[in-house]
Amino acid sequence: MQSIEQFYPFLKTPFKGIITCHQKPDGDAMGSSLALYHFLKSLGHDVTVIAPTNWAQFLDWMPGVDQVIDFESNREIATKLVNEADYTFCLDFNILHRTKHLEPVIANSKSVKILIDHHQQPDTPSFGYGISDVKMSSTCEMIYDFIVQSGHSNLINLDIAQCLYTGLMTDTGSFRFPSTTASVHKIVAHLKEIGLQHAVIHENIYDQGTAARLKFIGNAFLYRMQVFPELNTALMAIPKADIYKFELKTGDTEGLVNYLLSIQGIKLAAIVIDREEERKWSFRSKGIFDVNIFARNHFEGGGHANAAGGRSSKSVEATAADFIEIIKTYKNQLTQ
Ligand code: 5GP
Ligand code: MN
Repeated sequence: MQSIEQFYPFLKTPFKGIITCHQKPDGDAMGSSLALYHFLKSLGHDVTVIAPTNWAQFLDWMPGVDQVIDFESNREIATKLVNEADYTFCLDFNILHRTKHLEPVIANSKSVKILIDHHQQPDTPSFGYGISDVKMSSTCEMIYDFIVQSGHSNLINLDIAQCLYTGLMTDTGSFRFPSTTASVHKIVAHLKEIGLQHAVIHENIYDQGTAARLKFIGNAFLYRMQVFPELNTALMAIPKADIYKFELKTGDTEGLVNYLLSIQGIKLAAIVIDREEERKWSFRSKGIFDVNIFARNHFEGGGHANAAGGRSSKSVEATAADFIEIIKTYKNQLTQ
């Protein structure tokens, strides 16, 4: 993979491009994709954002989201666009299989792939150009740097500012995680100078839930949470029945795992949700316990040191039981 700086000269010649991100795009995946979309459009390029799957409704206010193609419901059009593209920008994921069923389409296309991402252990040989930096708070921070360092700071308008702020805010837990550097705050200051109304974005993202979702959360804490104080660990296992009963939609469980970390002393928080095709794990940690390694070793996943995801093909009860056995072998690390 050549460095991202070596790609800058290609910004001068009009091209056809695809921008994509990981499946079930979150605020950072959608924010970075749309910020790059607006930026490349303003340079005169012919670009389309293709999301591998649908996304949470609380992202539907984002500028340009109505132009995003959901691969799962528009496979033919999306495949044609990928095959016609000169470049495929791959944002907020480290390995192509995070684009789910879009993976073979991208892998087989002749387009040059460009990686911009902050996850651990990127599959760099799959990309022509790119940048991977685990120290970055968010892919949105990296898109900001991409725009500024390629000499186009003047093109950052309100649309781009709103998209970038969304990823900066969501991936830093509203600017509280250790990844929130001085640079992050400087970027936000710049976006504010452009006219960003940050309070509106917090409302758009965090205040769009349903009453049923709150009832689901209440139920989950009452009946689905297990705390293992001797291992500083909290676990929540959500059966499919809850998803149906409370009519949960994509995105409704996002952030739930973080609540578990608010219990005093908890260093490892885990939640497993019984989704249609698989059991989806989310892991969060505080301090030295590395959930990227943990998810890789035991749950076919990965991510960052303090936030990672994984999966299991077992039943939700069986995979939760596995987790309870596995954490016992990490007692030393968890109780340091
Ligand atoms: P979440 O728990 O919110 O789904 O994911 C937490 C973090 O880990 C996010 O940055 C997400 O992109 C990443 N992540 C989730 N699942 C996987 C996975 O299977 N592999 C890798 N490499 N990263 C993941
Ligand atoms: Mn991210």
